[in-house]
Amino acid sequence: MLALSAEGLLPKVDYAIFADTGWEPAAVYRHLDRLEEEVAKPAGIPVLRVRAGNIRADALNPDHRFASMPLYILNQDGKQGMTRRQCTGEYKIKPIKKKVRELLGYPHPQRVPKNVFVEQWVGISTDEFHRAKDADVKYMRNRHPLIEMGWSRSDCVRHLTSLGLADTPKSSCLGCPFHGNAQWRHIRDTSPEEWRDVVEFDAAIRKGNARANATGNRLLGQAFLHRSRVPLDRAPIDHVTTAERAALRGDAAEAEEMEHGVLDGCSPWACRGEAGKPKRDDFGLAS
Ligand code: SF4
Repeated sequence: MLALSAEGLLPKVDYAIFADTGWEPAAVYRHLDRLEEEVAKPAGIPVLRVRAGNIRADALNPDHRFASMPLYILNQDGKQGMTRRQCTGEYKIKPIKKKVRELLGYPHPQRVPKNVFVEQWVGISTDEFHRAKDADVKYMRNRHPLIEMGWSRSDCVRHLTSLGLADTPKSSCLGCPFHGNAQWRHIRDTSPEEWRDVVEFDAAIRKGNARANATGNRLLGQAFLHRSRVPLDRAPIDHVTTAERAALRGDAAEAEEMEHGVLDGCSPWACRGEAGKPKRDDFGLAS
């Protein structure tokens, strides 16, 4: 959408906002720098990077309040669960809203007057039109220009390719538990340093986040980044296990997600639905 706006195929936007969790893959930061230099700046579009901390560091800091990531839990009695996802709200939605209020001239806690709002574009393509939603505040009105143009994911890829941006990486935290096996393999096989980083993090959160432990809210089971609930360096990311195949029972969507993860990563305005997922709880980790 930034490229389309810069090229004049869409109206020129006033700003582009990137919500940085502090733990994106290096390829995403490199790509963002390139977009800013080669696409946004020449078109006079400021790219605003906003952040509310560093999700990786915050999870391991006993003195820092932590918004829980969607971790896979294995309880002492063998019961499986997932922690509630609060990270998207905390690290993406909150800082975007804060910046938007500032741009409007009504920073928190001022009230934004009625009928003062920004038009916010959300890059959902026609393949995922069901994820297009209204914003939950009156000072933001969502539009979905790709859907209005009838563009699918492959239309976007074709256009990016024509601009020399075929290698646009998916944005999401390096260690997001929503990764599918293909994403985990990609990190392992292309970036040994980042693989070490996620394996270390996976081991470090086995007993839950540091703050929860420091405040006596200890996780009685174990937490994992991989859906198999096996430590990441031993998790079955190269093949579907017999147990996984049995659990799938012919569910093609689930199989696709197991391999490729959540298709759109973690878009702040198109959160993945909770339907059909294992029962979630915060397991005392959302301290
Ligand atoms: S990418 Fe994953 S871990 Fe990061 S904020 Fe989104 S859901 Fe949370």
